[in-house]
Amino acid sequence: MPQASEVTASEPVAALSDRYGGPSAAEVVARLEEPDMAEVKAVVSWRGVVVKDNVCLVGLARSYLKLIQEESCGRCGPCRIGVDVLRELLEKLVAGETGEWGPEGTVERIRDLAENIRDSAWCGIANTIADPILALLEVGIDHFLAHAHGTTCEACSTHGWVTAPCRSTCPSTVDCPAYIFQALEEHPHLATSIVKRDNPLPAIIGRTCPHPCEANCTLAPTGHPIAINNIKRWCADLAEGLAEDRGLSGRLDKRGAPHEVTELVTAQQSWRLTGVACAGESGGPAEGSGGSSPGSVSGAAAPGSVSGVPVSAPGASEPPCGQKVAIIGAGPAGLSAAYYLARRGYKPTIFEELNVPGGMVHVGIPEYRLPRHVIRREVELIEHEGVEIRYNTRIGRDLQLSDLEKMGFEAVFVAIGAHLGRPLGIPGEDLPGTMDAIEFLRKVALGEKVDVGDKV
Ligand code: SF4
Ligand code: SF4
Repeated sequence: MPQASEVTASEPVAALSDRYGGPSAAEVVARLEEPDMAEVKAVVSWRGVVVKDNVCLVGLARSYLKLIQEESCGRCGPCRIGVDVLRELLEKLVAGETGEWGPEGTVERIRDLAENIRDSAWCGIANTIADPILALLEVGIDHFLAHAHGTTCEACSTHGWVTAPCRSTCPSTVDCPAYIFQALEEHPHLATSIVKRDNPLPAIIGRTCPHPCEANCTLAPTGHPIAINNIKRWCADLAEGLAEDRGLSGRLDKRGAPHEVTELVTAQQSWRLTGVACAGESGGPAEGSGGSSPGSVSGAAAPGSVSGVPVSAPGASEPPCGQKVAIIGAGPAGLSAAYYLARRGYKPTIFEELNVPGGMVHVGIPEYRLPRHVIRREVELIEHEGVEIRYNTRIGRDLQLSDLEKMGFEAVFVAIGAHLGRPLGIPGEDLPGTMDAIEFLRKVALGEKVDVGDKV
């Protein structure tokens, strides 16, 4: 059960409720006061609400519920029907009307209904859906009552944008709820397509991300957050032909082609997947079955597949525009830029100093944490989009920036990574025979001999 709200008022924030921890109310307020947040009028979450003083709380509650309704899976009555009734009551209140219960009775009914949804809905998400409404009632009961007595205000027409806590925490803002839903329905290709809208390296990320999304999951307070990252890895391994070594293959067989699945889900669940389609069928060959080698462009694969492995494509690529973009560095930033540029019709070429792709992903993460064939597969899929990678080419040594211009590149993206270790600041760390972790990992990853002595 939610605890009582702490309510604070400050300028320009007129109402504030912070219930569950996370960023403190003061931190959220400070963030909202920064210049780039001028357009943001309110933050609504199950942890509470922060509202600037020119926002109508009733309009905000109505707008929030409208968006939540679109996200609800609709499997339980309190969420499906309760939220609908609650929104209707708020619609009336926005218009300065009340029902048969009169002004005070209507506001009380809104509170009762919100508490009922919180206490009786089936899932952890729905249990928290009504919390912001209760928080708004606590901090703005006078505003609700004024509306119930016929007052309307200009600020009623609030436009909102809803994201789940997991998505808003993800550095790539990956649409976790959407891909988790598809994973639940055993559509790993579709799930991977959704991840690739925001991050083209799902199998790599699925093994390496510290998953702050899980710490912020609605279910985290129960001690059992959704395994958001492992789900991503499971889907990507199946979709990208990495599954056989983990015994995961064949899970899609009973569902048929992913494209048919898109239509099925769109029709039955009203799931908003417009433009998402997968190019391939289920299944795929065993690991190491070919593909491009570093330094070459993958060109022999059949459309819709790389080395026989289906390619998950988040919607159709845009037609080629012919403009060339040079990217310096084949690490995650360079690979991501190249992938999305290629899908938008540009011709990206990556210049990489090393003879392997991945940048810090390759030379900063040991192989037992991130097998090299996983990096190779995802780079191969990016090359398949039309990205060229030139290895053993250091800009500033083998080519100059001016050369890139002469070669017809119209833009340059510098993605050289952060390859220096951070000193610990302890005596002796610069003595002969000592090296920082970054240097050590890099040497091992590149096959250089590292003398670690006899006692490790
Ligand atoms: S695991 Fe990482 S990349 Fe994936 S959704 Fe969570 S924060 Fe984002
Ligand atoms: S993963 Fe957690 S935070 Fe994200 S939608 Fe599911 S329950 Fe909510």
